[in-house]
Amino acid sequence: MTFTDIIGQEAVKRRLIDDVIQQHVPHALMLCGKEGTGTLPLAVALAQYLLCSGKEPMTQQPDMFGGDFFGEPEPTPPVNTRQPMLDHACGHCPSCVMAEKLQHPDLHFIFPIYKKQSGKASLCDDFGQEWRDLLLQNPYMGYAEWMQTSGATNQQLMIYESESDAIASKLALKSSQGGYKVCIVWLPEKMNAVCANKMLKLLEEPPSQTVFLLVSERPDLLLQTIRSRTQVIEVPALTQDDIQQTLEHKYGILPEEAHRIAHTADGSMTAALRAITNQDDNDDYFELFVSLMRLSYMRRVKEMKQWSEQVAAMGRERQKAMLRYCQHMVRENFIYNFHREQLNYMSAAESDFAVRFAPYINERNVIGIMDELQLAQRDIEQNANAKIVFFDFALKMIVLIKNR
Ligand SMILES: [Zn+2]
Repeated sequence: MTFTDIIGQEAVKRRLIDDVIQQHVPHALMLCGKEGTGTLPLAVALAQYLLCSGKEPMTQQPDMFGGDFFGEPEPTPPVNTRQPMLDHACGHCPSCVMAEKLQHPDLHFIFPIYKKQSGKASLCDDFGQEWRDLLLQNPYMGYAEWMQTSGATNQQLMIYESESDAIASKLALKSSQGGYKVCIVWLPEKMNAVCANKMLKLLEEPPSQTVFLLVSERPDLLLQTIRSRTQVIEVPALTQDDIQQTLEHKYGILPEEAHRIAHTADGSMTAALRAITNQDDNDDYFELFVSLMRLSYMRRVKEMKQWSEQVAAMGRERQKAMLRYCQHMVRENFIYNFHREQLNYMSAAESDFAVRFAPYINERNVIGIMDELQLAQRDIEQNANAKIVFFDFALKMIVLIKNR
């Protein structure tokens, strides 16, 4: 993966490239950004650039027979006759070939996993094939995609202490290709306490020629001591235009649809890709949203209980996705009341529904509903009992929807 594979983020790319050219690469760098901004592919591209042995052209030999032999000596050429370093990985040296397949022996990955057998230690290496396959196929994958590919069901993924031991012994060895050793830690906030402390030790006394690239979505959850050992680079959300262009040119989405998806993706390529690949899921969420609104309006408490049980059976990641979808619908229906079509981003079915439903979302209840949705989202993220969370939310909707 090279910097040309990265969507947008020109300023961040420039900074990373300049750091390498000026040999200012810190031994630990933390790329912080929300899901879908490209922090992970940026780290992988930087790793390949660091490992590339073809980016420094050969030093030019001074021409022994040059110059005017009989006349005045030619002006002395500048001392530095080296060509400037390439500002991208060459793409064809042995290091690049291995890095492109994510199989460079000096490129190490740490990421959250689950224990394949309870009580037995598992290592990231046990998931190496799945990890490489997913990352190569979709560099903009998020936690949900990794959960699915790794075969996790409902368990929370974690980085265990066995991982910090394993990486410490790998990095203690000399690099196999004679250059840098690079260790990418995806979602370091998922390290358990023992692992985090061992990682801190590694960052305090880094092995020689080693660069740690931490890729974090929630740096606030990390030990302050770890954060202060790294150079932090904030990676901003992608622009709507960057996402739209990518959807049109790389995924062949028609401009109007690409515009709508890019708008709702909220700066996240991961969200945009989910929208095009999970259309079926979105249809499900739409049905669920519509039925909840009807049941709340009609105060059908018994059926609302069944509704919350149905949602509770879906699995955490889909529940979170559904709650995000509901927030999108509430926002769009609120805006629909202003009759400014260019501000609305809904599919045909959603627009049809909005004709009748939008008046029920107004300035008296919109904030209350959004607050309840965010509260439910937080509770689900913190592993609260989903049946209770969703039933509670449904009951609150009875009161809120009545506020017409
Ligand atoms: Zn190369």
